[in-house]
Amino acid sequence: MIDIPVELGPRSYPIAIGHGLAAAIPDLLGRLRGRRFVVVSNARIWALHGARVEKALKQVAARLDRVLIPEGEKHKTRATVELIQDSFFKDGLGRDAVVVAFGGGVVGDLAGFAAATYMRGLMWVQVPTTLLAMVDGSVGGKVGVNHPGAKNLIGTFHQPKAVIIDPAFLKTLPPRELQSGAYEVLKCAILADRALYEALLDAPERLAGWERASVENAIASACRIKADIVEKDEREDGLRRVLNLGHTLGHALEAVTRYRRFTHGEAVGWGLIGAAWIARRRGVLGEGHYDSIAAAVDRLGPRPRLSDLDAARVLEAVRHDKKVRAGKLAFVLPTRVGRVVVEPDVQPSEVTRALKVLAGREALQG
Ligand code: NAD
Repeated sequence: MIDIPVELGPRSYPIAIGHGLAAAIPDLLGRLRGRRFVVVSNARIWALHGARVEKALKQVAARLDRVLIPEGEKHKTRATVELIQDSFFKDGLGRDAVVVAFGGGVVGDLAGFAAATYMRGLMWVQVPTTLLAMVDGSVGGKVGVNHPGAKNLIGTFHQPKAVIIDPAFLKTLPPRELQSGAYEVLKCAILADRALYEALLDAPERLAGWERASVENAIASACRIKADIVEKDEREDGLRRVLNLGHTLGHALEAVTRYRRFTHGEAVGWGLIGAAWIARRRGVLGEGHYDSIAAAVDRLGPRPRLSDLDAARVLEAVRHDKKVRAGKLAFVLPTRVGRVVVEPDVQPSEVTRALKVLAGREALQG
C-alpha cells in the first residue's frame, strides 16, 4: 500500500493507494467504527462494485444507507444535491454520520458538497472509481456543482477524513474514461514531474494494458504533486492556481457544449495544448517542448472535435470562468516540462488564435 499524507493541520487526512484496498476499508476506517454511514453512488458503479464496498462498510457502520444519484456531468447540479440531502433527511442522519462518496469525480463533487452543507458539515470519505477522481478529485477538498453558465461555480472546500484508492475498480472503466483521467496525470507531469512525463511517454498508447505497478505509481505521483501544492495553498489564494493548467480553456469548452460533448479530461487535453501554444507564441516555451507536449496529449487518444464551436462563445465562457480576476484572462502556461508560470494578462486574441490552432490539430488525431 502507498500512503500519502495530506498535511493540513486539523484537516489532515491520508490517501491510501493499493490494488484490492477496498477489502481493507474496515481497517482503514477503524476509527470511525460504530457511526452511521451513508454511501453516495450511481446505479452503474453500484451494480459493478457495490457489493464489495457494501460488505466492507457494513463491518464498520452501525447502519449503512445508500443514495444512488443520476449519472453524468449534466447531473452535477443543485437539483442533485437536493436529492441527496432529501435522502439524508428521510433517513434521519445526524451530525455524527459519515458520507462515503463512491464513484467518479461527479459523485465525489456532489457527495462532498452535500456533506459539506448538510447540518453545516458531515464528515466524509472518498472511494474514487475513475482514474480522474483518483488522481485529481480525491486531493484537496474542493466540492461543488455546476451552474448552467459556468463549471463548478457553486461550491466550497470540505476536506475528507480519508481517501481510499483501489485501482482494481479501473478494470471496468470504459477506455474513454481512462483516457480522460490520463490527461489529468499528464497535466501533473507537465506541471512538476519530468519522471512522470517520461513514464507516460513510455506507457502503451492510450494506456491500454498499462501494468499494475505503473498505474499505482502514476496515481501516487499525481496525488503527491497535488497534495504538495494544496498543503501550501489550501484555499487557492495563489500557488494552487497552477493546478488550473489546461483548465481555463478546458472549462470553457465544457461550458459551451453544456457539459455534454467532452469528458472533463478531454477538455483539459485540448486546454493543455492550447496553453502550450499560447506559451510557445509568447516565447516562454520552446518549439521542441511545445511539439513534445502536444504529441504527449495526442498519444492519450482522440478528443471530440471543437472546430465547429463559435470562438466568441468560447471566449465568453473563458471570461466567465471563476478564475478570472479583475476582468483579466489569467492562464497557467508551461515554460518546459515540469515548470509553469501564471500569466495574468492573456489577450483575447491569443485565445482565439489558440482555438484555431486546436481546430487545425483535429485532423491530426488518430
Ligand atoms: P464521472 O464521475 O462522470 O465518471 C465517468 C463515468 O464513468 C460515469 O458514467 C461513471 O458512472 C462511470 N464510472 C465511474 N467509475 C466506474 C468504474 N469503475 N467502472 C465503470 N464505469 C465507471 O467523471 P470523472 O471523470 O470521474 O469526474 C469528472 C468530474 O470530476 C468533473 O465534474 C470535474 O469537475 C470533477 N473534478 C473535481 C475535482 C475536485 O478537486 N473536486 C478535480 C477534478 C475533477
